[in-house]
Amino acid sequence: MKSKVVLLSCPTYEQEQVYQKLKTGMEILGGISRYFRKDEKILLKPNLLKKSETEKAVITHPAVVGAFARLLRESGCENLTAGDSSGTGNTEKIMAASKMDEQLKPYGVRIANFQEGVRVSYPQGKQAREFMMAKEVTEADALVSLSKMKTHALERITGAVKNSYGFIYGFYKAQGHTRYPSADSFARMLVDLNQMVKPRLYIMDGITAMEGNGPGSGDPVVMGVLLLSEDPVALDSVFCRLIHLDPRLVPTNYHGEKMKLGTWKEEEIQLLSEEGEISMETAVKTYGNPGFRVDRTPVRSNLWDKMAKVLNRFQKKPYIVTEKCIRCGICVESCPVPEKAVAFQNGRKKPPVYNYKKCIRCFCCQEMCPAEAIQVTGQKSS
Ligand code: SF4
Ligand code: SF4
Repeated sequence: MKSKVVLLSCPTYEQEQVYQKLKTGMEILGGISRYFRKDEKILLKPNLLKKSETEKAVITHPAVVGAFARLLRESGCENLTAGDSSGTGNTEKIMAASKMDEQLKPYGVRIANFQEGVRVSYPQGKQAREFMMAKEVTEADALVSLSKMKTHALERITGAVKNSYGFIYGFYKAQGHTRYPSADSFARMLVDLNQMVKPRLYIMDGITAMEGNGPGSGDPVVMGVLLLSEDPVALDSVFCRLIHLDPRLVPTNYHGEKMKLGTWKEEEIQLLSEEGEISMETAVKTYGNPGFRVDRTPVRSNLWDKMAKVLNRFQKKPYIVTEKCIRCGICVESCPVPEKAVAFQNGRKKPPVYNYKKCIRCFCCQEMCPAEAIQVTGQKSS
């Protein structure tokens, strides 16, 4: 059976329009009651990376999260919670700053700060056999992933598969980068995680996406689409097609297909729109953006990759644009390497300095910098 992906044209965040589109999308998928029972405890998981204005496209837009909460409530689901393991700050503060809380309040959605962790074993995992989950995730009957269409320094894109990393409890997210330091091992861990938590539905906010230096410091770009699917790999691969990126170049797609989480293969995906089934070619022609700035560097052979690591050269690396740095120290705090691969030298008079010998290239520093001061070398984005 093919994986269904619903592709909806949605040019703006006008609230009623987003709601109507998501309603149509759910009807195409067979109705909301196919996915959720009225008595279930449902957790909504938007991307709440950090405090940011919604126009910057860092977080899932409040209109999308609010519209889905409204749909659930109208179909009789009353036990609703929303939360994310944010990189800095907590769910409550980030939601308040973006006014997402105001969108959720009318539908009685509780806000969860994910303050407690629960160790969960997953013996069948191929890369990860244990996860420290946020308690609210383990208590929910059903999870809904509401991701944002963005670029990512480590995995090229962040979408449906990567959004599930926010189900992990706080501090352990950083630790995950030291346990799974390569793009491949990290992707395999994410695939295990998705197979364990099994969100019932994946929704992607691609109305305004982020290109360039994502996922925290890139540029907003209008793509005008909403995507829905039960298959996160298929959903992410449609995102890839729309930005003219070979889906196989994205480790979460490549390993997601190998590990049977889903499929990136065009012939195994059924693309559905408001007008009925459409071909990928039509979708790309209508909604695609060939100029979307994303890392298109070809995959290197294993041997070449190992050599680059041993020599600690020819690898992508983060660097600080001095004039932009406000010397806040968030990059230092975010670095998961215990002895810190980025640190201030002689106080905060100057920006922090990298020690590339210690750096595992997880790009957490670049992700969390609030001043868009950290860039990444060695990416071909067009
Ligand atoms: S997080 Fe960004 S702004 Fe803050 S110290 Fe690091 S480079 Fe400078
Ligand atoms: S310096 Fe940045 S990229 Fe390097 S290990 Fe630390 S957080 Fe990761």
